Amino acid sequence: MPITVVGSIAFDTVKTPFGERERMLGGAAVHFALAASFFEEVRVVGPVGEDFGDAELDVMRRRGVDVSDVERVAGGRTFFWQGEYGWDLNSRETLDTQLGVFEGFQPKLSERSRSSDVLFLANIQPDLQREVRAQLPDARFVALDSMNLWIDIARDSLVSAIGDVDCVILNDAELRQLTGKPNLVSAAREVLSWAPSSGEARGLSVVVAKQGEYGAALITRESFFALPAYPLETVIDPTGAGDSFAGGLVGYIAAHPLEERSDGLLRRAMAHATALASFNVEEFGTERIERLTGDEIVERIKELRAITQFSGPPLQLRY
Ligand code: AMP
Repeated sequence: MPITVVGSIAFDTVKTPFGERERMLGGAAVHFALAASFFEEVRVVGPVGEDFGDAELDVMRRRGVDVSDVERVAGGRTFFWQGEYGWDLNSRETLDTQLGVFEGFQPKLSERSRSSDVLFLANIQPDLQREVRAQLPDARFVALDSMNLWIDIARDSLVSAIGDVDCVILNDAELRQLTGKPNLVSAAREVLSWAPSSGEARGLSVVVAKQGEYGAALITRESFFALPAYPLETVIDPTGAGDSFAGGLVGYIAAHPLEERSDGLLRRAMAHATALASFNVEEFGTERIERLTGDEIVERIKELRAITQFSGPPLQLRY
């Protein structure tokens, strides 16, 4: 099933303990699209400025990504983000955010983008997420990401947006902040209890809590599943890991249109998400995913399976 994604298309300036890059291609929609493109056709919706060139669009086109709804705003500047990571790559500081063309952005989706069965609402203002959601009323699977900023300044709108999707993908700290609950499982179950605003039978059924280098957990009303991050010895730049993760997860689900959204399917989607995120962090920005191959993903899934399994009879305990 084709996937539509709306979100930031950006230039990122990033400094980590292992180097720095200025104005490299980034943005949540870009990281998501490149990862998801291994599974399905992706249609990207978002604005760029006059400073965004064909070379940047070609990075997505080479992966078969449909960029015809990338709107080039005359006289505008592309969204810019600057961040710095400390020695602990789990924590980062945002040094600069320039909205540029995102200010006043009104999502205009073509007939083609509106016809997708799967929608990913990357981290943008929740009112915009709701506007886009309303343009795909019949989508079969909708997932949403957000961030602390929107929990701080637009919580009500975000809660309403969450009521209209099937899956929420957030960092563990964001889930705690959103619900005011310190325990991750009860925070996730609280989000699951929020009734869909449409009053329909369908609605939120999956919450994914990203935990950076510690992996990710998947919580539904009935079950819990967790995977560690793939144990890399060298991590260069975590920027976009969350969006690559989402691309792997949503892409895998989109590639199985006829399969019921079972626990098994969601677990396999989590493994693919974990694999895509692990490649993303091996190099700066989109560098690693740009030359990633399907065979490498398959190999990493095998390794993930091996390191997360254990077997043998239960031990007869003394008490
Ligand atoms: P992640 O590391 O997965 O959280 O995603 C980082 C990407 O999100 C970068 O490429 C940034 O360009 C983009 N980004 C950072 N801040 C924002 C924001 N406030 N709104 C939308 N996108 C953002």
